[in-house]
Amino acid sequence: MPHDHHDNDHLSPSGHPYRADDDTDLSYWQTMEIAVRELLVEKGITTSAEIAGQIETMDARTPSNGAQVVARAWTDPDFHAALIQDASAATRDMGFDIGPLKLIAVENTDDIHNMIVCTLCSCYPRNLLGLPPDWYKSRAYRSRTVREPRSVLAEFGVTLPESTKVRVHDSTADMRYIVIPKRPQETDNMTQAELAALVTRDSMVGTGLAKTP
Ligand code: FE
Repeated sequence: MPHDHHDNDHLSPSGHPYRADDDTDLSYWQTMEIAVRELLVEKGITTSAEIAGQIETMDARTPSNGAQVVARAWTDPDFHAALIQDASAATRDMGFDIGPLKLIAVENTDDIHNMIVCTLCSCYPRNLLGLPPDWYKSRAYRSRTVREPRSVLAEFGVTLPESTKVRVHDSTADMRYIVIPKRPQETDNMTQAELAALVTRDSMVGTGLAKTP
């Protein structure tokens, strides 16, 4: 006797959400990655454990790194000056090394709102924000942000006064940006840790604002 046909065919018989197997052919780049990785291991240049460890380190980086940087910039004038002067060095001193890349901190004020994009691909300050979200890598975000930043901002729920100038920064393979969002009002008595909790990932990309307490 045939099984009853489920109306909800996105659920498995046990009620779990159904996910199609992704056992399709490897793409050119997937094949290339496997070939290069296996060669490097075979030649003793690196080990599988080192590669797994590096991936773990990358996955462990989250926007809370950047939030700590912003909260310190809001509260420590010397650090703020150092961050504006040389963000690579200032964040390295906090333990967030961006390596040989140049990091530039841009600050949002009443007069200017900065937004970050990588029009070419997905360059992102991963040492401070972790892996970029899918929308950051999408063609729509990359192309529309430079043409109609205010429309993109509106879709993120951010509407700025006409008097605020919007400046879009295009990241490159060598140069990354971090936005210092405007410090919310009525936060004078908050500690750095409390302030850091107000700093969202999107506020450091410029597609959002810091939360109000
Ligand atoms: Fe890129």
